[in-house]
Amino acid sequence: MSTLNINNFFVSNNLPFIIAGPCSVENKAQLTRIVQDLSLLPKIKMIRCGIWKPRTRPGGFEGLGNIALEWLCELKQQYNVHFAVEVAKPQHIELCLKNNIDTVWIGARTCGNPFSVNELSEALRGTELPVMIKNPLIPDIKLWIGAIERFQQVGIRQLIAIHRGFFLHNNHGFRNNPLWEIPMELKRNMPHLPLLCDPSHIAGKKELIANLSQTAMDLNFDGLMIEVHPEPEHAITDKEQQITPSELTEILDSLIVRSSGMPLPEELSYFRTKIDTLDHELLCILAQRFSIINQIAQIKVNNNLSVFQLDRWEQILNTRMETGKNMHIDTEFIKKIFEQIHCESIRIQDLIINKTEIKK
Ligand code: PEP
Ligand code: MN
Repeated sequence: MSTLNINNFFVSNNLPFIIAGPCSVENKAQLTRIVQDLSLLPKIKMIRCGIWKPRTRPGGFEGLGNIALEWLCELKQQYNVHFAVEVAKPQHIELCLKNNIDTVWIGARTCGNPFSVNELSEALRGTELPVMIKNPLIPDIKLWIGAIERFQQVGIRQLIAIHRGFFLHNNHGFRNNPLWEIPMELKRNMPHLPLLCDPSHIAGKKELIANLSQTAMDLNFDGLMIEVHPEPEHAITDKEQQITPSELTEILDSLIVRSSGMPLPEELSYFRTKIDTLDHELLCILAQRFSIINQIAQIKVNNNLSVFQLDRWEQILNTRMETGKNMHIDTEFIKKIFEQIHCESIRIQDLIINKTEIKK
C-alpha cells in the first residue's frame, strides 16, 4: 500500500483529485460493494466514508463508528485504496490514527465552531495526517480561513479546502447555495491551498451534480468530492443526492478539464484590454453617481427628510431591472448590483448627515 502524499498529487498533476464514496457506511455488504466498485475506477484517488454522522435532529442514523473503522482497515489492505473519514471530536481523530485512516475531514457544522476546531487541531499536533476542511454553513469566509489557519498552526502540512455550499434563506433550488465568489475569494487569499468542490451537498439532488462538477472545473477547482452509493434509492442518509458508480463514471468521463496556465492567446489580451477600458468607465460613472450624494444629503437634512425613501427606491429598482432586461442582462443580477449601490449611497448620506448634525 503506497503512503498518501496529497501535496505531490497537486504539484505533479493537472488532473482533478477525485474523492468518491457513500454519505454513510451502513453495513459491511454496502461498504464492501462500493469499495470494490470504486477501486476499479482509476480516476478515484480516495474513498470518502461517513462513520460518525452529524444529524440535524435527534433520532436519526448517527453512523456505525468503531465497527466501521475495523472494516475500513480490512478493505484498505484488500483493495489497496485510501480512505477519508469525517471527524468532529478528538476521540474520532485518535481512532482514525489507530486504524490507519489516510485523511480526515472537518464537516461544515464543525468548521463553524472555533472551540471544536481548536480541539481537533490540537489532537492532530505532531501528526502527518492530511486534513480537509469544509466551509462552514454560514457564508463567513473568515471562519473558514480561521479553521484552516488553526491546522496550519499545529504543523499540518497537507491541507485541502472543500467547498460544499452555504445554507441561506434562499438557496435558489440548491440544497446549499454555491456562492462561488466565496471559494474564489479563498483561492485569492490562499492561492497554494488545494481547493475541492463537493457538488453533492451543494446540489441535494443527483440531477444537478454533473453541471456543478463542470462549473467547478471551469472555475479551476483542484478536484471533487462526490457521494456514491451502490443503491442510492435505499440509502439511509442523503438518498436524493447519492449516485451510482456507473453514474459517477459517466459524469467523470464527460468532464472537460481545461488548462489555467500560460501562454495566453493574443486575441484574449485584445478583449481583456477592452474590458479594462469598460471597467474604468464603469468606475468613473460610479464615482460621478456618488459625487452628487453630498447635495442630495444636504437637501434631505434641510427639508427634514429621511435618508431612505421607499417610493424612490422601488422606482429605481423597477426601472433599472426593466431597462436591464431590455438589454438582456439578468434581472437578479441587476437587482443585486443596485441593492449594493443603494446601500452604499445610504451609507454615505448617513455619514454626511450625522456629521452635519454633530456640527450643529
Ligand atoms: C458529509 O460529507 O456527509 C457531510 C455531512 O457533509 P457537510 O459537513 O458538508 O454537511
Ligand atoms: Mn452526506
